[in-house]
Amino acid sequence: MIEELRETVCGLHAELVRNNLVAWTAGNVSGRLPGADLFVIKPSGVSYDDLTPGSMVVCDLDGAPVEGALAPSSDTAAHAYVYRHMPQVNGVVHTHSTYASAWAARGEPIPCVLTAMADEFGGAIPVGPFALIGGDDIGRGVVETLSGHRSRAVLMRNHGVFAVGESPKAAVKAAVMCEDVARTVHLSRQLGEPLPIAPADVDRLYDRYQNVYGQRSDR
Ligand SMILES: [Zn+2]
Repeated sequence: MIEELRETVCGLHAELVRNNLVAWTAGNVSGRLPGADLFVIKPSGVSYDDLTPGSMVVCDLDGAPVEGALAPSSDTAAHAYVYRHMPQVNGVVHTHSTYASAWAARGEPIPCVLTAMADEFGGAIPVGPFALIGGDDIGRGVVETLSGHRSRAVLMRNHGVFAVGESPKAAVKAAVMCEDVARTVHLSRQLGEPLPIAPADVDRLYDRYQNVYGQRSDR
């Protein structure tokens, strides 16, 4: 089980690179081990090219490493806080992806002006508080912002994106979609004011995408 999760989490880091969400060693993915108070996360400061399943670090839900030779990501405390407080979340992703972070730098939520946003996020992508790394401040900001919100992504002010999902892959998908819509809405705004989608239509789109769209085995 843990070996499979190491492979999954390691492989998903390649998706961050493939989708241009990360520069140098920034960004990280983690995944919760089902049925155990453990999660697997990227080691700190290791090049994406050098990541292997064996270099992933297993941590307890306080963020303390329990298995692995390397130190875990410097964002481990934030991931651990999310797992402790959001039992439905089994994957967490953090990036400084360009367009989403540009919105975060302004502290402005991305308005829901695209059907793809209604589908994936069920509304605007919200902004979380400014928080310094280390300790529980980032994790608390992520949890407080996403609680009671349909969005799977939050723009942490002056920082970047945290995305969550029912699996590590779903969290990576949310991070990819967050950057995609951040870019499109940014471009749209250069040409004028994007048009909002009526809240009732946002609800209908979200419900359809979450419950009807895709292959049954996907869900
Ligand atoms: Zn960061």
